[in-house]
Amino acid sequence: MSRTVMGYWDCPVCGSKGIAGNVMNCPSCGRARGDVQFYMKDGAENSTREENERGDIEYLNEEQAKEIGKNPDWYCSFCNSLNKDHAAFCTNCGASRESSESNYFDQLNKRKAAEAAEKAAQPQPQAQQVKKKSRLPLLLIILAVIVGLVVYMNGSNTQGDLRVTGVNWSRSIPIEQNIEYTESDWSIPAGGTEVSHRQEIQRYDQVLDHYEDYEVQKSRQVLDHYETYYTYSDNGNGSFTEVPHERAVYRTEYYTETESRPVYVPVPRYATKYTYTIWRWTRTREATAAGNDHDAYWPETNLAADERETTPRAEKYTFTVVDEKDARRTWRATEEDWRKINEGDRMTITTQRGSGESWIVDEKGNHLIRVYSN
Ligand SMILES: [Zn+2]
Ligand SMILES: [Zn+2]
Repeated sequence: MSRTVMGYWDCPVCGSKGIAGNVMNCPSCGRARGDVQFYMKDGAENSTREENERGDIEYLNEEQAKEIGKNPDWYCSFCNSLNKDHAAFCTNCGASRESSESNYFDQLNKRKAAEAAEKAAQPQPQAQQVKKKSRLPLLLIILAVIVGLVVYMNGSNTQGDLRVTGVNWSRSIPIEQNIEYTESDWSIPAGGTEVSHRQEIQRYDQVLDHYEDYEVQKSRQVLDHYETYYTYSDNGNGSFTEVPHERAVYRTEYYTETESRPVYVPVPRYATKYTYTIWRWTRTREATAAGNDHDAYWPETNLAADERETTPRAEKYTFTVVDEKDARRTWRATEEDWRKINEGDRMTITTQRGSGESWIVDEKGNHLIRVYSN
């Protein structure tokens, strides 16, 4: 059931505020109600209010509501004053309603459109010009770093005036022995001889045993009650129409539900496990030889009946140098190159920063012998 509510307006000429909607002329300056915007106390047009937010609303009684009507006021084309819907002639100048070309809402929309157009016509604030920063300095820095790095990596670390204090070599041959092992497994590998076997647990399988019930907490939204709220529309004649609406209010309801889940039990699976003996060649020792001369040789292996040589053989050829500060360092070389190096030799060794390669060089820096960190 809709009800009619009193609207209010402000006089645009003398500034009087809160003039009741059923008053047609400003009580202060007498100006006929013209271009005005109707409003409700403590709220805008078309607003929504809750049940308890309507304390200051002034309702019109049935007689007042009938008098004011629901249709917008019409505009007098001659004197621009507003007239009640039921008035056949302008109460201000007596002109006929027939000649009226617009009503309250037409005028309101026209006014709003004009305001919007005026706002749109105003010049927009200029977007601030962002100064484009040149990227050139950064590029130059990156380029300089790259050039610097290339130069550095092409450089080398040279140690000159080195003196060879000794040469060393070592050689070794790995040896394995045939040993009998006792092992156990689910099968006997090739070459194995069974000693015994028995049933053992190999694994557990999860087997469905039964289902068990358990309770689950759940929630759902249920309708609690309905509540009323109100919307208001401008009648365009100094009054508003209040329309009640209903909306559902829900609450959360908690409940438990019984569900069931499977329960599994581990069941052992048996298999035959074998104990067996097996001969395996096993690396047990190595024969080594070493010396501080150029007479490198392979060591005697002195193999027992259950032994044999295996691979890989190892060999290493080194020489030690001291610099002018008596700092000692050992280098490695291939056997062929190492044989050219003798105790008392003087040399310069260069290490490239980029590749990490080290070379014995002549006085012009030409690579003579490749050497390696020991
Ligand atoms: Zn006034
Ligand atoms: Zn008139």
